[in-house]
Amino acid sequence: MTPEDFRQYGHQLIDLIADYRQSVAERPVMAQVEPGYLKAALPSEAPQQGEPFEAILADVDKLLMPGLSHWQHPNFYGYFPSNGTLSSVLGDFLSTGLGVLGLSWQSSPALSELEETTLDWLRQLLGLSAQWSGVIQDTASTSTLVALICARERATDYALVRGGLQAQAKPLVVYVSAHAHSSVDKAALLAGFGRQNIRLIPTDEHFAMRPEALQAAIEQDLAAGNQPCAVVATTGTTATTALDPLAAIGAITQAHKLWLHVDSAMAGSAMILPECRWMWDGIELADSVVVNAHKWLGVAFDCSIYYVRDPQHLIRVMSTNPSYLQSAVDGQVKNLRDWGIPLGRRFRALKLWFMLRSEGVEALQQRLRRDLDNARWLAEQIEAAPHWQLLAPVQLQTLCIRHCPPGLEGEALDAHTRAWADRLNGSGHAYVTPATLEGRWMVRVSVGALPTERAHVEQLWARLQTIVNG
Ligand SMILES: *Cc1c(COP(=O)(O)O)cnc(C)c1O
Repeated sequence: MTPEDFRQYGHQLIDLIADYRQSVAERPVMAQVEPGYLKAALPSEAPQQGEPFEAILADVDKLLMPGLSHWQHPNFYGYFPSNGTLSSVLGDFLSTGLGVLGLSWQSSPALSELEETTLDWLRQLLGLSAQWSGVIQDTASTSTLVALICARERATDYALVRGGLQAQAKPLVVYVSAHAHSSVDKAALLAGFGRQNIRLIPTDEHFAMRPEALQAAIEQDLAAGNQPCAVVATTGTTATTALDPLAAIGAITQAHKLWLHVDSAMAGSAMILPECRWMWDGIELADSVVVNAHKWLGVAFDCSIYYVRDPQHLIRVMSTNPSYLQSAVDGQVKNLRDWGIPLGRRFRALKLWFMLRSEGVEALQQRLRRDLDNARWLAEQIEAAPHWQLLAPVQLQTLCIRHCPPGLEGEALDAHTRAWADRLNGSGHAYVTPATLEGRWMVRVSVGALPTERAHVEQLWARLQTIVNG
C-alpha cells in the first residue's frame, strides 16, 4: 500500500469507525454467533495475490461485525467498562502510523518524555504525591507481575544475581484477599512464589480484606519459619468493587517491611474525583499501584499505568544494558526499557495525551459522576422493588443483583438467575455478567460505557423486571 492508497482507504476506515460509533446502539450488544462461525467463513490459507482493499472492508462488515460483542454500546453493562474515547483512538492511530519504538530515550526522545509528562499529569489528577513515578504497561496483569517480581527481589536482597528463588532458605509468602482478581494469583505463580505460598485472607461482610486476619496470617507464617514478602490489596474488586482498607493494611506491611501493591485497575479511574479519594485512603503507604486508564477513564485499550515509589529499585530489577542500547545521555534520561519487561515500547502515551488534551479534565470528571449517579439511581430502584436484592454496597458504578421470587433458594435460585441473565444477553438488548459470590450466582451490572445515559439505565431496569418473568 502506498501513502496515496493509505490516504484514500484511511479516510474510508475513519468513516467506518465513526459510522460504527454512531449506529452501534442498533446492533445486538452480545454477538449472536456460534463457535467456529468465522473459521468456517474464511479461507484456510492466506491469499497469494493481493486483494482490493474494498474486499477487505466488505468482509469486516459482513463477517467480523456479527462476531463482535459491542463494548462501546450504550447497553453494555458487562465485566467492567473499557472505554475507547475517539480522541484516544486517534492517538493510537498516530502511534501506529508513526511506527516509532522507544528502546531507549535516544531511539525516540519524544516518546519517553511524553510518557513521563502525561503520567505525571495523571498522577496529580489521581491525587498521588510527587513521590510516585509511572510507566505505561499493557495490562494490569503485567503491572502486578512486575510488582511481585520487585517484591521478591527486595525481600531477597536481589537473589536474581545469585541463585534466585531456588537458593532461598525460606519460602516467600504473598497475601491477597479471597476476592483478588485472577491476574494476582497468576502473577504470584509466574513470579515463582508457588501455590503453597499464596495466602487467601478472609474478608468482612462487605467483601473487603480483614486486616486482623492478615496480621494473624503473617504471624503464623513467621512462627512456621516462612518469610512474609508482599501483600496485594485491591481498591475495587472485580466481583463487587469492594475496597480493601489500605491504611490498616499499610500499617501492617510497614511494621513487617512487606511490599504493598495496590490493584486499582478499575477503581483507580474514580480517583480523578476528589470525593472518591477516601476509597484509597492509605495509598501513600503502598510501594506500587496499578490503574487501568483503559477502563472507565477512557483511553483506548491498552494503557495500564504502573506507579512506583522507588524507581531505582524497579530499574535495578529490570535493567539490561547491552552495548547497542547505550548512549552518551543515559545518565540524564529515563530509559523506559528498564521500567518493565518488554524492550520495545509503543508510543502509548499519545492516546492518553490526546484524550486529556481533547476532552479536558472537567469533562472526564463529569462523565464519571454521571455514571456514579446512574448506578446509584438503579441501586435505589432495586432496593425499593419487592423480590430484588442488592448483594454488596454500591460504592462505585457496579451493582451485584439478584431476583429472588418467593420460595426459590439454593440451586433453584441459581438456575433462575442464570436463566434470566442468559435470556437478557441472548436478547441482544443489554449485556450483563453473571458471576458467583460466596458460591451462589448473581448478576453484575457495571454502568459506565461512554454512551450510557440515564435513559438507557431506565430502559435496562424496565427490561430486567420483565425478563425475570420468562
Ligand atoms: C480489569 C482488572 C484486572 C485485569 O486487568 P487487565 O488489564 O486486563 O490485566 C485486574 N484487577 C482488577 C481489579 C481489574 O478490575
